[in-house]
Amino acid sequence: MAAQRDYYEILGVSRNADAAEIKKAYRKLAVKFHPDKNPGDPTAEDKFKELGQAYEALSDPDKRAAYDRYGHEAFSGGMGGGRGGFHDPADIFSQVFGGGFEEFFGGASSRKKSGKQRGSDLRYDLEITLEEAARGVEKELEIERNIPCGKCNTTGSKGSGGVKTCSTCGGRGVIDRQAGIFIQQSTCPECRGAGETISDPCGDCRGQGRVERATRIKLRIPAGVDTGVRLRSTGNGDAGVRGGVSGDLYAFIHVADHDVFEREGNTLFCEIPLPFSTAALGGELKVPTLDGQSSIKIPAGTQGGTTFRVRDKGMPALSGGIKGDLNVTVQVEVPTKLNKDQQEKLREFSESIGDQNSPVHQGFLEKAKRFFDL
Ligand SMILES: [Zn+2]
Ligand SMILES: [Zn+2]
Repeated sequence: MAAQRDYYEILGVSRNADAAEIKKAYRKLAVKFHPDKNPGDPTAEDKFKELGQAYEALSDPDKRAAYDRYGHEAFSGGMGGGRGGFHDPADIFSQVFGGGFEEFFGGASSRKKSGKQRGSDLRYDLEITLEEAARGVEKELEIERNIPCGKCNTTGSKGSGGVKTCSTCGGRGVIDRQAGIFIQQSTCPECRGAGETISDPCGDCRGQGRVERATRIKLRIPAGVDTGVRLRSTGNGDAGVRGGVSGDLYAFIHVADHDVFEREGNTLFCEIPLPFSTAALGGELKVPTLDGQSSIKIPAGTQGGTTFRVRDKGMPALSGGIKGDLNVTVQVEVPTKLNKDQQEKLREFSESIGDQNSPVHQGFLEKAKRFFDL
């Protein structure tokens, strides 16, 4: 669900295609996959939508530059960022074809005739914890959205027979006006594009066939998601006008920072303090992982800054690939509150060891010789 196809691949053009090629490719495919031409085929609708997004992104020079640089991330933005949204694919289609689909195919579209309009897609920014991202989680989202009106059964009319074809536009939803030699088309002011008027609007939805309500939607978040992943919940956007198809809900995932682990792709990193004596003598070190406690073997003479890899304790791969590792970097901790006796022992120890048993120090002295008076 989260894996998005490359926009160039969707349009079947090369990465250096010019604007004309992109438009041509879009025109060809959009006609093929238009929902009105493929009734009841949800894959066509998905493809049509995907095409609209690909075209929208690549036809705008700024968006295209951003996409070339950041890929899909460019449109998944930060919290509440406006760049994640795409227009309704039907609008993109109208822009490119300069009119409604009905004109293009020379027939009246069912969309206009019945006054149905597709509902909008909605965006929801969802923050989850790293633990939730690692295991996957089911969330219940509370969303204000339009749902079908139950009182009028989405017709928008109180009784039956209240819905009439709009007399101003004849059901087309648009009106033509002669302006010089051109014909200007604009949305019908009477029915506001619906193509029909309602003489006895439903009291609950005022003729819209849908009402705004706070709703709860369950969403399954797959294990392995990361910030920037966008999940689609089909049909959970706004309900359409007067029984039109519902839009989709897009959840934009943000994985919150963690107080122990840093994440880079599927790899996790953490720093763990290592007691000074364990670093010198070797031993076991307890290590936190997202699956609980684990431990690593510390060889005698481990230096601060050494990184140990704990296999398979990173993040799972979103599409069922290989699980990541956890990289543990140890920081040797110097004791701070030594009592007299301990200080004495450490001094004795220091004298006994001399300068000869400090490999890192010796290596450094070798390199820095000229700075010292040796
Ligand atoms: Zn109603
Ligand atoms: Zn009208």
